[in-house]
Amino acid sequence: MKGSSVIYPGTFDPVTYGHLDIIERAVAVFGRLIVAVAHNPQKNPLFTVEERREMIRLSLGENPDIEVDDFDGLLIDYLKRRNARVVLRGLRALSDFEYEFQMALMNRKQDSTIETIFMMTSEAYSYLSSKLIKEIAYLGGSVKGLVPDPVAERLRAKFKEGGLG
Ligand code: ADP
Repeated sequence: MKGSSVIYPGTFDPVTYGHLDIIERAVAVFGRLIVAVAHNPQKNPLFTVEERREMIRLSLGENPDIEVDDFDGLLIDYLKRRNARVVLRGLRALSDFEYEFQMALMNRKQDSTIETIFMMTSEAYSYLSSKLIKEIAYLGGSVKGLVPDPVAERLRAKFKEGGLG
């Protein structure tokens, strides 16, 4: 485990202050972090992988300790490619727990050397999810203070594009 890269995987459709809070706190603990955007076509993401990566990059600014990457397919295959064994996930509420518990055990079943580490959300972001952000933006509400400005702009543009905004 020593010196192994820590991977924070997610759909990030789009990145929110909840994700960014986890990223910043993880870097403070682990020193380095790889944020890995899952293609996840089965989730029908609103943004392309490139858009999701770009929004994370813009939100983080220049930081050599954080790498933003993407992957398709199984997380454990990506971990192998990156020679990594530690997965970081965020937890908001009890409702996150069951799914995360299953995923962590399933990943460990496929590769017993994988460890999943959980970081508890900050209280201020405990209600924040990408899904809710998209719903608010779709309905023309304000997402200020919930996502960084470049993300809010892209949400506006995206819904305008579709003739909804
Ligand atoms: P996924 O589809 O893989 O769940 P998400 O982008 O929804 O991707 O979430 C990625 C990770 O970030 C998950 O572990 C999720 O629990 C965590 N997360 C999402 N929103 C928050 C938040 N507001 N506070 C803490 N963790 C969060």
